[in-house]
Amino acid sequence: MTKMNDSYRHKGLRKKLVEEVRSKGIRDENVLAALEAVPRHFFLDSSFLEIAYQDKPFPIGAGQTISQPYTVAYQTELLKVEKGLKVLEVGTGSGYQACILEEMGARVFSIERHHSLYRKTKLLLAAMNYRAKLFYGDGYKGLPAYAPFDRILVTAAAPFVPDAFLDQLKPGGILVIPVGVGDTQVMKRITKVDEENTEEERFGYFRFVPLLGHKSR
Ligand code: SAH
Repeated sequence: MTKMNDSYRHKGLRKKLVEEVRSKGIRDENVLAALEAVPRHFFLDSSFLEIAYQDKPFPIGAGQTISQPYTVAYQTELLKVEKGLKVLEVGTGSGYQACILEEMGARVFSIERHHSLYRKTKLLLAAMNYRAKLFYGDGYKGLPAYAPFDRILVTAAAPFVPDAFLDQLKPGGILVIPVGVGDTQVMKRITKVDEENTEEERFGYFRFVPLLGHKSR
């Protein structure tokens, strides 16, 4: 693939992006190192190559977007990723977030409900030698066949917290999910203390594309 060229210029732009994201308050050095490692321009259409390293979201087809790097870093920091943890991402999109998690040593499972995106991203990640396991399906249900997970990260706006996500977390596990039906969503971190108890923390407001396809709780 001719497009898959990671030049010194791209690496330089990435360093600048990392400094920008750091200046906006991201402190986890492992998150910042992952951001510096993953060539974001591979995930965007070639027409966006020049602007791949701005701290902005971009369209990736099928009406979806690759999240803003700051948002990716913010969610990843909240998730407290550690080497070897089993992580489920809901909303694969471009695959960028999945690669960030993998760079941090996570074993990544990711689910996407747009078949065209699923297919395109599967090819891209394979070409880049990432091993994240990608699935086509409705993320509202989680991924019961591969549960339980240490961490679950939802990268689309959920109108509520689906029970399936809490059911599929290990005790001590963490769910990071933007919740809300309006223009913006509140970022929630929910820790499953044990089978009966959860603890919820609320962070800032963000703007995600909606999690699609649910009919009812
Ligand atoms: N994490 C992505 C960005 C996600 S955008 C990245 O790094 O590029 C949100 C994604 O969630 C979109 O690709 C959208 O198609 C997907 N999505 C929406 N509803 C979904 C559902 N019910 N199950 C799985 N994926 C869903």
